[in-house]
Amino acid sequence: MTDLKDIKAFAFDVDGVFTDGSVIAMDNGDLLRIFNAKDSFSVRTAVMNGFPVAIITGGCSESIISRFNSLGIPSSDIYQMSKNKLPDLLHFCERHNLDISQVIFGGDDVPDVEALRAAGLGICPKDACVECREAADVVSEFCGGHRFVRDIVERTLRAQNKWIFDPQQPWGFSYREEVNSAQFKSGRHVQ
Ligand SMILES: [Mg+2]
Repeated sequence: MTDLKDIKAFAFDVDGVFTDGSVIAMDNGDLLRIFNAKDSFSVRTAVMNGFPVAIITGGCSESIISRFNSLGIPSSDIYQMSKNKLPDLLHFCERHNLDISQVIFGGDDVPDVEALRAAGLGICPKDACVECREAADVVSEFCGGHRFVRDIVERTLRAQNKWIFDPQQPWGFSYREEVNSAQFKSGRHVQ
């Protein structure tokens, strides 16, 4: 298990990790998800302080792209319709010149098990499936959607003296471009 001081990037599943796993199924097939602003702030802060963050989800939705774009994550680091998360995690590592041992992966269900085992630090929410709880290096004291992401990101950044919020600092090199693109696509302002 990699020490938090040596972590260089994060990768997270979405449902059951950023959310409590609930979705609201709309008549038109869209799924609505509730995100936690404290989790979101920690992701923005990680990006601002130079940590690549990957989103690796079995889901597929325009709202996932626009949500994570607005946190400073470029679309190229958002993997949707991912059945087995490990190949996508390895692809992310290769693109960012990272060894998988330098990456934290957070997941909560069976498709996340291999990535949890392979990552430098595999962590799952307290309410993850039993296979994840057995495979993970750490079982969080937090549940998915309830500051699970915030806790691990904040602790990692604090361990490296990078838990820094500077309002003058840009979100990340790709933030403006991605937000503009999300605004253009959705035709509305992205918070
Ligand atoms: Mg999940």
